[in-house]
Amino acid sequence: MYLIIPLYIFVTGIILGSFFNVVGLRLPKRVSFTTSRSSCPHCSISLQARDLIPLFSYVISKGKCRNCQHPISITYPLVEVSTGFFFLLAYIHFGPSLSFAGACLLISLSVIVTVSDLAYMIIPNPLLLFFTICFTIYRILEPLHPWFDSILGALAGLGIILAIILISKGGMGAGDMKLLGVLGILLGFKLTLLTLFLATLIGTVVSLTLIALEIIGRKDPFPFGPFIVLAAMVSYLYGSKFLELYFTTFFM
Ligand SMILES: [Zn+2]
Repeated sequence: MYLIIPLYIFVTGIILGSFFNVVGLRLPKRVSFTTSRSSCPHCSISLQARDLIPLFSYVISKGKCRNCQHPISITYPLVEVSTGFFFLLAYIHFGPSLSFAGACLLISLSVIVTVSDLAYMIIPNPLLLFFTICFTIYRILEPLHPWFDSILGALAGLGIILAIILISKGGMGAGDMKLLGVLGILLGFKLTLLTLFLATLIGTVVSLTLIALEIIGRKDPFPFGPFIVLAAMVSYLYGSKFLELYFTTFFM
């Protein structure tokens, strides 16, 4: 019986992931994501209800458009399954709690930012504004200790990336700065610093690997948003344990 709730959360994550994919692809182009119908990007045929069932439609159609047989991007089912997986992981970690609700907000923002930044190198402002409001309401219901740690986190996120932008002249973008500022409200000061540290670490390793494999060029623009949100999710789930371990190892 107790498998029903985790399964329900996983499936809800898959369905929401499908919606987040649409938001991430349409918001930067200012196309409505509620009224305008989805169509095949290759032959432009309007998709029917049976083509729009998350994951299921992709598997049934073997990843091809029903009309023109053009392959459908693997990113759709990948985004859907990852969202389901992260929702489930957060539920297993936090159980039914306010912290789980905070994790769901963070995962939602993360998925949309990843889609949008990978597709267009844009982190849309309306999205950041929406989640500024969500995280603020969440932190009023479940405040950090002390409560103004949210403000310190936001200021640290904005300030440090601003400094990096000024010093490196374009190593990071204004979108990254605003994103880490918004995440700071949720994470507080310490976890925001940890997020930036982890994001830089993972981002550097991945970009150097891609350059070494000649998948991207040395001067190619590189979206940093996905690494910030991935690091934020790791910090939110495991950050306090990580910091505890760090301080007991080095300062005791
Ligand atoms: Zn088609």
